[in-house]
Amino acid sequence: MGSSAIIQAKLVLLGDLGAGKTSIVVRFAKGLYYECQESTIGAAFFSQVLALDEATVKLDIWDTAGQERYHSLAPMYYRGAAAAVVVFDITSTDSYVRAKRWVDELQRQGNPHLVMALVGNKVDLQERRQVGTQEAMDYAEANGLFFTETSAKTAQNVSELFYELGKRLLSQL
Ligand code: GDP
Ligand code: MG
Repeated sequence: MGSSAIIQAKLVLLGDLGAGKTSIVVRFAKGLYYECQESTIGAAFFSQVLALDEATVKLDIWDTAGQERYHSLAPMYYRGAAAAVVVFDITSTDSYVRAKRWVDELQRQGNPHLVMALVGNKVDLQERRQVGTQEAMDYAEANGLFFTETSAKTAQNVSELFYELGKRLLSQL
């Protein structure tokens, strides 16, 4: 593949309300962080270009519109996605349980080539941690997911997450 190759891929974010999905994508796309994120009104869409060694990956990132509040998302939301990022909050066991349900749903919905990441967010809140790193890592490994812990607040591992997914998307072409 020449270095001028460009691929375009849809990436969706899933996870409990409040896990930090919008904060992660806003941190990545705009380099900003807000303490009080307005709960998303209308689906948000961010287009980001990743310049990797082998090719350029244009990620069309879809953020939820708050409908995850009802613990359901229309399959239309993730239809056609090449990558999915399932986010939980490391200070909330409930959000971790919910994240695993999203993983199950994505694995059942059909696309066997979906590149998936499980992300434990709010790693800056160590003192309030409820979900162990090793536990989530073991689960991710058993299910073939990339795992990382991020902080949208400090930016820790945020761009690394998207670049890793970009590389994985390229490597399966
Ligand atoms: P979403 O519902 O999953 O989109 O979550 P939001 O991005 O709206 O974030 C929910 C709340 O958690 C907001 O008040 C954010 O400021 C806060 N938040 C998001 N990410 C982090 C993080 O990495 N660290 C901390 N301390 N707070 C965060
Ligand atoms: Mg949101």
